[in-house]
Amino acid sequence: TAEFEAEALDLQAIPATRTKVMLNLANPAAAFRWWRLPSDGVGLARMEFVINNQIKVHPMALVRYDELSDPQAREEIDALTAGYADRTDYFVERLARALARIAAAQHPAPVIVRMSDFKTNEYANLVGGAQFEPKEENPMLGFRGASRYYSPRYREGFALECRAIRRVRQEIGLKNLIVMIPFCRSTKEADRVLEVMAENGLRRGEDGLQVYVMCEIPSNVILAGSFAERFDGFSIGSNDLTQLTLGVDRDSEALAELFDEQDPAVKWMIRSVIAEAHKAGAKVGLCGQAPSDHPEFAEFLVQCGIDSMSVSPDSFVAVKRHVAEAETEPRTAARAGQA
Ligand code: PEP
Ligand code: MG
Repeated sequence: TAEFEAEALDLQAIPATRTKVMLNLANPAAAFRWWRLPSDGVGLARMEFVINNQIKVHPMALVRYDELSDPQAREEIDALTAGYADRTDYFVERLARALARIAAAQHPAPVIVRMSDFKTNEYANLVGGAQFEPKEENPMLGFRGASRYYSPRYREGFALECRAIRRVRQEIGLKNLIVMIPFCRSTKEADRVLEVMAENGLRRGEDGLQVYVMCEIPSNVILAGSFAERFDGFSIGSNDLTQLTLGVDRDSEALAELFDEQDPAVKWMIRSVIAEAHKAGAKVGLCGQAPSDHPEFAEFLVQCGIDSMSVSPDSFVAVKRHVAEAETEPRTAARAGQA
C-alpha cells in the first residue's frame, strides 16, 4: 500500500525545492501517516471529508432540530448527540478534534482548511439534510461554496464551521490553521463572506488569521487583482477551473477525454492569475488534481512562478522531483509564456 511505501522511502533522495510542495489531506486518521514526508504543510484539507466521516449530520438539522420533520433523522441525531450539552456541540467538537489532529501533525507548517463545499445533493444526503437543501438541476453550478455562507439557508451552519475553527486556533492554540473559501463567484460575495466570518469571531489579520480564496471560476482569474486585495492568497482549484473554462462537466464519462487541465486555455488562466496575484502581493498555490495526476505538470507551474502546490501523498515524491528539475532550468518569461 501507499502507506507501506511511505515507510520504505529513501527520504534523503527527495530533493529540496524553493517552491513549496504540500499535501492534500483531510483524513484525520491518516494525519500522522505522512509525517516523514518533507512537505510544507497541508494545502487542502476538505471539510466535507470530515463531515461525511466523523459527523454525518447536516449542521442545519442540529441548529433547527425543533423544525425537523423526519422522525428517523431525529432518532439518529438523538443517538449521535447523546452526551453533548448542546446538539451543536456535537458538530463543533468533532470537527475541531479532526482539524486539530491534522494541524498538530504539521505544526508549525500551515494547514489550509477549506470551509464546506458539498453540492446540494450531497448536503441533502447528510442526516436531516434533505429538508434544508433546495432541489437543483445543476448542483455543480448551484448553491455551493461562498454563496451558502451568508445565505439565511445556511449561515447558522457556517457559524458552526467557524466555531470549530475558533476552537482549534484560539482554545487549542494551533495558529497554523488557515481558512480557505471555495467557489467565490464575485468580489461582492467575498466581502459578504468575510463579514460573516468576522461576525463569527474570525477576522482576517486578527490573531494571525490568514484567509485564502480558491481560484476555480473564470471570474476569479478575470478579477484576480480585486480578489487579491481581499485575501492573503489564492489556491487554484484546477478541477473546477478546467470544468468551467472548457465547459466540460468534470463528472461526465462521455466527456472525459475533453477534460484536460493541460489545455492551452486552462494554462492561460493559471499563468494569468499567478501574474496578476503577484502584482497585488498575494500568494498563489494550486490544490487541484492536475500535478497529482500528471507530475510533469508541476514543471509548467514552476515556470509560471507559482509559490506552492498541494498534491496527494502518493504523488508527493514524483512532484517534488519535477519541481526540483524545473527549478534548475532558468525561468524565463518566454518559456512560461508558451502554452
Ligand atoms: C478543485 O476544484 O480543483 C478543487 C480542489 O476542489 P474540489 O475538487 O473539491 O471541487
Ligand atoms: Mg473545486
